[in-house]
Amino acid sequence: MNTDSSGDQAADTEFRPATTAITAGRCANGTSLAPPLWSSSTWASASLADARKRATGHRSKEFYGRYGNPTVGAFEEAIAELEGAEDALAYASGMGAVTTVILALCGQGSHIVAQRQIYAGTLAFLQGPCRRFGIDVSIVDGVEPGAFAAAVQPGKTMMILAETPSNPLLELVDLDELGAIKGPFKVVDSTFATPLGQNPLRHGIDIVLHSATKGIAGHNDATLGVIAGERDLLNEIWSYGVLHGATPSPHDALNALRGVRTMAVRTAHQSGSALQLAKELAADANVVAVFYPGLPTHPQYDLAQRQMRHNGTVLSFAVTGGIDHAASVLDRLRLGRIATSLGGPETLVCHPATTTHASLTPDEQTVGGITPGLLRVSVGLEDPDDLVEDFRQAVRAVTA
Ligand SMILES: *Cc1c(COP(=O)(O)O)cnc(C)c1O
Repeated sequence: MNTDSSGDQAADTEFRPATTAITAGRCANGTSLAPPLWSSSTWASASLADARKRATGHRSKEFYGRYGNPTVGAFEEAIAELEGAEDALAYASGMGAVTTVILALCGQGSHIVAQRQIYAGTLAFLQGPCRRFGIDVSIVDGVEPGAFAAAVQPGKTMMILAETPSNPLLELVDLDELGAIKGPFKVVDSTFATPLGQNPLRHGIDIVLHSATKGIAGHNDATLGVIAGERDLLNEIWSYGVLHGATPSPHDALNALRGVRTMAVRTAHQSGSALQLAKELAADANVVAVFYPGLPTHPQYDLAQRQMRHNGTVLSFAVTGGIDHAASVLDRLRLGRIATSLGGPETLVCHPATTTHASLTPDEQTVGGITPGLLRVSVGLEDPDDLVEDFRQAVRAVTA
């Protein structure tokens, strides 16, 4: 069972992930247990030689805010350890990470293969600015076996961009299959899993990426992105990133590092509640479909058990009666708040067709399964019995 991490000790780290979440990211602490906040945007040098060293060295943490910051560095260290990576780099947002990675590694004439089931902001960036810059993009179905490999153009494809579990239908990409593809950089947006749910680098992926705004920070009080991978590759991305300027706020890095400390208990509680809620909804006559990797009815249930440590903190379900019934469920929920984002303490519910996926054409919505009755739930930290009761009364009332 994938919720049991007791046999999961990684070969190259000393501890299991929940312990690493406590021990990692203390490089800026001194003897303080809490990380100090370095709000400084510039640092003094002792001499011209010292100033030159700071200005020209790689990843200088005490030169100028855009180059690095000790508080941000502590957060990066924690994520690198949790992902089993040599290094990590934080950005001002998840999209700051996505755009920096793409523009650091691709240029005019390069080709990117991305999955159809990708974050709407990422898709908009690929289809808008990337094409405008002469970057060619192919969109494939990330669930279909062999689809990524078939779209690779040898010598031209620089990057494969995947996301698993995906938004909002929690579809999975087989990380072993993706990791085995030779040639392009393989980048995986692992936001929905958090570093405790899966570690794509262990499957041959080159860069794992998170919107740390979500489950990593975990309290809806930080906007932050992070990537992890091999140091040489990240140094190259860092050099571009200093010019791109999606620099993370040290305040947000501090909040995110505090989030890391409680991430294991939060994700365990939330994924447990999500499974309970998913089962309850699946048994409700007013629900036509439930999407959750922890349900044996999920078409990729076996893959989820194989590559994920927990089933995730987000589920989606579709009610009978389309948008009117979806609206009525939202109106009647007492605990589920109408809001986008995920991974925080409050249970949040959103209507993808009119919010996160509103930019898709009706055809794209149909192909993507974004039906009018679909609701996405980010399960919070409330008592699961209260949540189940809240959703039960809201969904039952639809046809009452
Ligand atoms: C939210 C999100 C992003 C973008 O992150 P921001 O912090 O909002 O910029 C990217 N990918 C996924 C899967 C997300 O959920």
